[in-house]
Amino acid sequence: MRSYRKELWFNVPTRRAFINITPQVEACLQESKVKEGLVLVNAMHITASVFINDDEHGLHHDYEHWLEQLAPHAPVSQYQHNVGEDNADAHMKRQIMGREAVVAVTEGKLDFGTWEQIFYGEFDGRRKKRVLVKIIGE
Ligand code: ZN
Repeated sequence: MRSYRKELWFNVPTRRAFINITPQVEACLQESKVKEGLVLVNAMHITASVFINDDEHGLHHDYEHWLEQLAPHAPVSQYQHNVGEDNADAHMKRQIMGREAVVAVTEGKLDFGTWEQIFYGEFDGRRKKRVLVKIIGE
């Protein structure tokens, strides 16, 4: 069995962003030489997400609006976590959008459903953060 591990690094200049990381994950898969197996992609921070959905600008705007309604950033004083911090909303947004994505590898390619793409969701940016890509198979 082959095993591959790589960290992808991000330094998003804004507090929140959605970034399509499918090209980076595809590059990892090529490098791994795995033809049949599984890819795990997970955020290594508790204020960021990895998730799969459509690369559609309107949808991303809707996510931002929906998440802000569920867990508004301000006023920061509404959260007990924010004693000395200001990112309670980012923890909650990460919880809703998830920690990781798993994708099947078939014939050397990511075996996606229709329109599926992999995204890094940043909810407390402006600092260096990483995503783990782990690929196993043969
Ligand atoms: Zn925190």
